[in-house]
Amino acid sequence: MNGADAQSPVIVVGAGLAGLTCALDLVRAGLPVRVLEAADEVGGRVRTDRRDGFLLDRGFQVFNTSYPQVKRRIELARLRLRPFTPGVLIHTAEGGRLRFTDPTRRPSDALALLTGKQDRGPGQGPGPLALAALGPLCALDLLAPPRLLKRLPELTTREELARWRVPDRVVDGFLRPFLAGVFLEDDLDTSSRMFHLTWRSMLRGTLTLPADGMGAVPRQLAEDLPPGCVERASPVAALSAAGVTFADGSAADARAVVVATDAAAARSLVPGLPAVATRTVTTYHHAATRSPLREPTLLLDARRRILNTCVLTEVAPTYSADGRALISTSVLGTDAPGREAALREVLAELYATGTRDWERVGSTTVAGALPAMVPPWPLSRTGRTASGVYVCGDHRATGSVQGAMASGTRTARELLADLRRP
Ligand SMILES: Cc1cc2nc3c(=O)[nH]c(=O)nc-3n(C[C@H](O)[C@H](O)[C@H](O)COP(=O)(O)OP(=O)(O)OC[C@H]3O[C@@H](n4cnc5c(N)ncnc54)[C@H](O)[C@@H]3O)c2cc1C
Repeated sequence: MNGADAQSPVIVVGAGLAGLTCALDLVRAGLPVRVLEAADEVGGRVRTDRRDGFLLDRGFQVFNTSYPQVKRRIELARLRLRPFTPGVLIHTAEGGRLRFTDPTRRPSDALALLTGKQDRGPGQGPGPLALAALGPLCALDLLAPPRLLKRLPELTTREELARWRVPDRVVDGFLRPFLAGVFLEDDLDTSSRMFHLTWRSMLRGTLTLPADGMGAVPRQLAEDLPPGCVERASPVAALSAAGVTFADGSAADARAVVVATDAAAARSLVPGLPAVATRTVTTYHHAATRSPLREPTLLLDARRRILNTCVLTEVAPTYSADGRALISTSVLGTDAPGREAALREVLAELYATGTRDWERVGSTTVAGALPAMVPPWPLSRTGRTASGVYVCGDHRATGSVQGAMASGTRTARELLADLRRP
């Protein structure tokens, strides 16, 4: 701790999920807190823009109700959540469509899948024997406590699925296209521990969208902070354990400083932090006069030309003000000339409809969308650093809503313990 006056505030740099969660715990402990946010709004990577009457999340994201931090801190009723169906549709390499469903939630669909029945088109499903290989893995992830899953041997997800003898046609026909959209990589390089925890959250939770967009989640956290606590448009240029310097050259003292930015900004503010490789994703939003898929379900491509696509307005009609359908499609990497035109061709095949008259509403590329969680990936790191400054964020835990909030929670707990120390 620095020698600053005990009445000086704790400064939290960054009002993403990690910073807001950390600030909430510090405020609840009775400390004065200033949250300094560079952008004009809270949320960081979880923000929603309004454009042409549409709600546009900055990248396709889903809100999982089973995350422990969500259960503990978020008032779900305030978000007016709209659920996805419990399962996904896969456009097969042969051009058909398969439905993968959690059999505990939609037994009728599970029967269709296990008997190899297609939603439509040619080809056939992996079959009951192949799918049965997923049973023991699902049972473990559903029933074992997270502390046990965190201690399983750490491999890549690819190696772990091979260890569980999941057949290639289940891996390539279902898991790889699905997980590519979750981890933003399609080589299954992500830590197997992260896979087990994510799979558990999928099996136990419901995937949803808030009626007002994903940005409603951080907004709710910010609303629970005292008025004036979050200072928007306040970029921090430099810092020490005793305070910060703003981009305009002015300064502010602090009793302690928490850096709750993304990994790259944290490294520029706190020399000595390790470099973190990250994933990049681009999401395109299109508007169509008629919905190309009349159900709130994620559609994947076994050929992995896209990460995933879905008709957002089938999930949450509030995403469109004029009743037109809003379609979100994500791809790995950045936008490039011609990429959106090629994408329309793929979407025409996937949705079996013309896409030429779809209006491009917008596109967002998020560089540094997620940390690349390749082994060895510690699932939780201390917020304490050698310089006396604290650091939290998804790059100190896992790249997820849960990870960011858990990291903010841990850092607040450590900071409070240090302040109480004589
Ligand atoms: C496209 C996409 C899809 C995703 N999908 C999911 C999903 O479906 N489910 C899931 O659980 N997770 C998902 N995630 C991951 C999840 O959104 C992130 O892990 C989480 O939001 C990270 O929060 P954070 O607080 O750690 O960092 P951030 O959200 O990056 O917040 C950091 C904040 O610090 C601010 N800042 C930076 N530098 C400064 C400075 N110098 N001064 C002041 N402020 C500064 C930034 O403006 C920002 O507000 C997704 C992420 C993306 C991008």
